[in-house]
Amino acid sequence: MDFNQLNDIFVRQLTLSGVHEGETVSVLTRGNERADYADAALFAAQELGANTFHMRLPAARSTGGTWAVGDSGLGTNPVAVEALKQSDMLIDLTFLLFSKEQFDIQDADTRILTVVEPAPLLARLMPTRELRERVEVGAGLLAKAGSMRITSPHGTDITYTLGRYPTLSEYGYTDIPGRWDHWPAAFVFTGGTDDGVDGTIVLAPGDVLLPFNSYVQTPVTLTVEKGFIVDIRGGLDAELLTSYIKSFDDPRGYGMSHVGWGLDERAQWHGLTQFPGGMGMELRSFYGNVMFSIGPNNELGGPNDTPCHFDIPMRGCSLYLDDEPIVRDGDVVIPDMRPTCRR
Ligand code: FE
Repeated sequence: MDFNQLNDIFVRQLTLSGVHEGETVSVLTRGNERADYADAALFAAQELGANTFHMRLPAARSTGGTWAVGDSGLGTNPVAVEALKQSDMLIDLTFLLFSKEQFDIQDADTRILTVVEPAPLLARLMPTRELRERVEVGAGLLAKAGSMRITSPHGTDITYTLGRYPTLSEYGYTDIPGRWDHWPAAFVFTGGTDDGVDGTIVLAPGDVLLPFNSYVQTPVTLTVEKGFIVDIRGGLDAELLTSYIKSFDDPRGYGMSHVGWGLDERAQWHGLTQFPGGMGMELRSFYGNVMFSIGPNNELGGPNDTPCHFDIPMRGCSLYLDDEPIVRDGDVVIPDMRPTCRR
């Protein structure tokens, strides 16, 4: 993307995020990654009257090609963490999520925005206040619920007991001290109680496996008991899923992690084919998806901090909170969560 356009979208983003005179905005990168984003973030922060600085860490050591979450590069660098804590807002261009250091920085009331997706996607799914309102309606409903049931025509029928973990929202910008968000995003999620997820999930062709960044080709049947996957059956997709989890040699990789639904009607289900270099935020956000995940729940305050993590957005599902329909056959049924044109 042309650097003027990149500067422009970062100014729009930091304006939504409430950056203003008298604040300090830090920008974090590793190695040579996203130097253009860092420049645009510095430009935008300065444009809005804030003080700003760029902290560049050494390149990440190779993890052998797997997506192991939680290694921030800051774990042995307390001086760097302290500097980031001193800033009002951190633009994270490295993907700090699931690291202890991210939580430490948030606890210091620094708000954090992660930006790692391709620039054209940042522009196309630019957050809006209207989308934030609809996401917050969803978060309000989810936070009150005691149970979530998900069904699908392919045979999914699973129940999550709720109430133990907080509800989180992602709407693509953040103007609240200590709050984290990810640009772009539009979804809500929470987690089941540690031993309170039971049932069957059947992944259907077209459902999405992140971080494989691939579409399921043949059905995969997951049996879940007391919060853990106990059986995975199907063809090649099932074998790849199993093989990947096994490679971490960590039984907690079979745990059930966050669960919720997506709300951005601009997000395209075929997005992975357009942005193969991204990490799939468009698929996490697409309107009416039901997304469950496997692996760590420390993001929600839980004990599971395994580095093995899948997010799996599914199409055409129904989702009920305390038996009230929220998503029916892949369409959001609560009017206040629907875009104005679909009410
Ligand atoms: Fe996740």
